[in-house]
Amino acid sequence: MQYDVDFLVIGTGIAGLTFALKVAEFGQVAVITKKEAAETNTNYAQGGIASVLGKYDSFELHVRDTLQSGDGLCKRDVVEMVVRDGPTRIRELMDWGVAFSRDHTGSLELDLGLEGGHSHKRIVHAGDFTGQVIEQVLLERVRSHGNIGLFENHIAVDLITYSTRVKRGTVTAAHEDLCCGAYVLATETNEVHTFRTKLTLLATGGAGKVYLYTSNPDVATGDGISMAYRAGALVANLEFVQFHPTCLYHPEAKNFLISEAVRGEGAILVDLRGRAFMKDYDSKQDLACRDVVARAIDHELKKSGDDCVFLDITHKEADFVSERFPNIYQKCLSFGTDMTKEPIPVVPAAHYMCGGVLVDMDGKTDIKRLYAVGETACTGLHGANRLASNSLLEALVYAHRAAEKAVKDLQSTDMEVCGDLPPWDPLGTADSDEAIVVSHNWDEIRRFMWNYVGIVRSNKRLLRAQHRIENIQKEIHEYYWDFRITSDLIELRNIATLAELIIQGAILRKESRGLHYNIQYPEKDDRFWLKDTILRRPFVG
Ligand SMILES: Cc1cc2nc3c(=O)[nH]c(=O)nc-3n(C[C@H](O)[C@H](O)[C@H](O)COP(=O)(O)OP(=O)(O)OC[C@H]3O[C@@H](n4cnc5c(N)ncnc54)[C@H](O)[C@@H]3O)c2cc1C
Repeated sequence: MQYDVDFLVIGTGIAGLTFALKVAEFGQVAVITKKEAAETNTNYAQGGIASVLGKYDSFELHVRDTLQSGDGLCKRDVVEMVVRDGPTRIRELMDWGVAFSRDHTGSLELDLGLEGGHSHKRIVHAGDFTGQVIEQVLLERVRSHGNIGLFENHIAVDLITYSTRVKRGTVTAAHEDLCCGAYVLATETNEVHTFRTKLTLLATGGAGKVYLYTSNPDVATGDGISMAYRAGALVANLEFVQFHPTCLYHPEAKNFLISEAVRGEGAILVDLRGRAFMKDYDSKQDLACRDVVARAIDHELKKSGDDCVFLDITHKEADFVSERFPNIYQKCLSFGTDMTKEPIPVVPAAHYMCGGVLVDMDGKTDIKRLYAVGETACTGLHGANRLASNSLLEALVYAHRAAEKAVKDLQSTDMEVCGDLPPWDPLGTADSDEAIVVSHNWDEIRRFMWNYVGIVRSNKRLLRAQHRIENIQKEIHEYYWDFRITSDLIELRNIATLAELIIQGAILRKESRGLHYNIQYPEKDDRFWLKDTILRRPFVG
């Protein structure tokens, strides 16, 4: 089946939904999402959104903190633009119905939290359910908008570009290209539909599932970055993977994050013997930037052989802790830890992709009619290391700018330029009798990425990982074209591409900066590496 719409939005997190609501005033929008609509990274965000709303805070300070965290690679014009637009976007969310927490004094002022790397309290939050509250409000609006069609359980397989010809095993793409839509698998019926569009937005979120341990939900398999790369778009800075220092350590607590805001309220990291170790690593101690804290924990664990470290907030009033962190408190309690009485066991986990599809200040990629916003994009805001709670902010600001630009582009965009799109060619028609190939390769990629391309890297481990991924890619490739596609296979193909790109970026960058740390090059090298790592798929003629 073919759908013709003005705008195709892939992803239902804060980026996709905000964009959809804005462009829907000007055209028909199809919003597709691969599972239920609320299953997004956005929905799990606890801490909040960084923005300058406090009396003693200033744009200059937020800009300075962001640049410091980004370790030389942030684009200053992008940082200034995002920081200055923040308060307007927050007020817009509030006008749409998002109820952020007010301060404890009973005034109507917003309660602003503090997180690592911020010099002031500036994190706007809704308890510790910030993402969920935003997601609900945006989704309700999208569901009730007459110009928006929401397609749940629809997974985008590949972008369709003007020059794309899907042959057996080869996708060719010219670099000056035009996006005409996407092939999308409806997972409940196993049919692949063609969405023909004037403008396409990738808002597919992050790629935490490339790693064995991650704070991200299962949907975070880097699909947008992989699809854009396959279509010939530029991608950048994928070696900068942020590992969150504190995920709950429990065999059944899949992906549960203990927000940085807990350290912001005074929690201290201690080892099994109760020793507070952050003073050995950074003058800011427990409020050092995430990469410093994650590396410190990694070092402590490698040194001691322990399974986890602990986050201790028992010195604070029990009522304060359970009221400030109701979600975290309840979750820990359900796994047997009362955080008001005992330290929480924690480990680091892959959390956020600073790199992604390279875009300009309006969220435009270098393929015409293709935009990318949110975690899937690389805007230049985060540089080599994202400052905490700057990502929801970035998604909001860029969704707004991309929507304004896309609406302007719509007037001059002719659907017919793309002509009739070829229907999806189901090359492999047999159902797989060896699903084990998919599950084995999933596990293998995630494990070697954790062990070889994790928090601390070395040349030897990176080359080992490169060798592994080359072999796995060959296997996936053969399998992909022989059997009928499934969502597992689509995601496997995408995490393999992401793994390959992260490894490539990490091998190319011969220094340590921000989130990328290589023991062979422990220092930063501004002479050669004060630049982005930009990759493009080689042209296959
Ligand atoms: C536990 C946790 C806590 C966090 N806390 C904070 C915080 O306090 N502050 C902050 O600023 N940031 C936080 N972050 C990061 C932030 O939540 C994300 O960066 C942000 O929500 C990303 O939004 P997004 O719209 O780009 O993507 P997402 O919200 O991840 O949405 C992606 C969407 O794309 C869909 N999708 C993916 N691939 C396909 C496909 N092939 N076809 C169709 N649909 C697809 C997914 O199903 C999903 O709907 C946190 C992240 C996590 C995981």
